[in-house]
Amino acid sequence: MEVGLDEEQALLVGGAREFARSELLERDGKWDETAETVAEVLPQLAEMGFMNICIPQELGGLGCSYETYVRILHEIAYASPSTAVTLSVHNMVGNLLNSWATEPQRSEWLSRWGTVGSFSSFAVSEAGAGSDPASCTTRAVKVDGGWKINGEKMWITNGLSGSWFLTMARTAPKSEGKIFTAFMVRGDSPGLERQPIHGKMGVRGSETAVVSYDDVFCPDDHVVGPVGKGMQVAMSGLDGGRVGIAVQATGIAEACLDEMLSYARERKQFGQFIGRFQAIQTMIADSAVELAASKELILRAARRIDAGKVDPVASSMAKLFATEAANRIAYRAVQVHGGFGYVHDYRVEQLYRDARITTIYEGTSEIQRLVIARAVLGR
Ligand SMILES: Cc1cc2nc3c(=O)[nH]c(=O)nc-3n(C[C@H](O)[C@H](O)[C@H](O)COP(=O)(O)OP(=O)(O)OC[C@H]3O[C@@H](n4cnc5c(N)ncnc54)[C@H](O)[C@@H]3O)c2cc1C
Repeated sequence: MEVGLDEEQALLVGGAREFARSELLERDGKWDETAETVAEVLPQLAEMGFMNICIPQELGGLGCSYETYVRILHEIAYASPSTAVTLSVHNMVGNLLNSWATEPQRSEWLSRWGTVGSFSSFAVSEAGAGSDPASCTTRAVKVDGGWKINGEKMWITNGLSGSWFLTMARTAPKSEGKIFTAFMVRGDSPGLERQPIHGKMGVRGSETAVVSYDDVFCPDDHVVGPVGKGMQVAMSGLDGGRVGIAVQATGIAEACLDEMLSYARERKQFGQFIGRFQAIQTMIADSAVELAASKELILRAARRIDAGKVDPVASSMAKLFATEAANRIAYRAVQVHGGFGYVHDYRVEQLYRDARITTIYEGTSEIQRLVIARAVLGR
């Protein structure tokens, strides 16, 4: 994503690349093997400013545009897809608060957003409510001075170490319609419990948890956005979040392409480098084109966010194309490596597994197509 960088962006993106390749790349393989969490590098990520990339400078953030953010995240994803999703979710919650939080909330939460103590999760999905978040059953009931939350969220990224849970809960009986509210719930609230989800196929260094709420109290001043507008709050986060997942996919895809290129240059069969075979060249060429197209769709969506013209369709297009392309590219990367691509010693084996989740979380490819088709059909 180097094209068109100004001097400041080039410095930030170059720093991210250097940091990611020296500090994350090797650890990422270890996290994959042991399923230990990337949380061990949170202090370094905070130090680099990667926990509050788009938060305004007056609140202590880097104050970057979304375009710069995606370029930084791309470098992280190239070296560590697990760290990329961890940061993508935390930064998404920060960006969402930057849009919806009141002045007192902004100065309480966002001024510390770059610290490990603000590490955050986005808690919308439940076992029975994935693609259809409006079927969620977690409920918040009004009590004196706040709300009592009961229910269970599933698949929550950053859910083990997270200090905050941006939680969507139903705030009126189902019979009254789809009325939800967003709450910033403290991770140390009495009644809040987290359980790790084990056995993930990929992004094994990222934390995924079941989070349960048993009469968890959330004060009135921790409601985010208007009461009853929780769905709009959560969905607005996904407009940027989906671009973040597209970037995660593109980082994986670029790493796959680089692995393909080096292998094609060193592996000989029939007395010549396999890169000389047209079939291998076709896989490389198709991957290079799809990677370039993914980056353009991502930049287009990011620039719309920067222009204040948030465009959910542009975000969905970027996510749909980049994540499906990353899976095709990862498939080819394994194919180019032959049998060696099927074993863990070669990075493509892990990248192939890491790519798989990108077409699922923050809205499956089928849901992205639904968003796009509705817009194209003019509904
Ligand atoms: C590792 C991981 C991390 C995650 N992190 C988070 C997180 O931090 N916060 C959070 O809130 N959630 C998170 N999720 C949840 C994720 O967003 C959901 O898994 C996803 O939205 C899909 O929901 P589901 O798994 O319930 O599948 P379902 O919704 O049950 O879908 C099953 C299949 O049906 C298809 N389908 C469903 N509805 C339609 C439709 N209308 N038209 C066509 N096809 C349809 C889907 O595309 C899919 O193929 C995470 C999930 C995973 C696996």
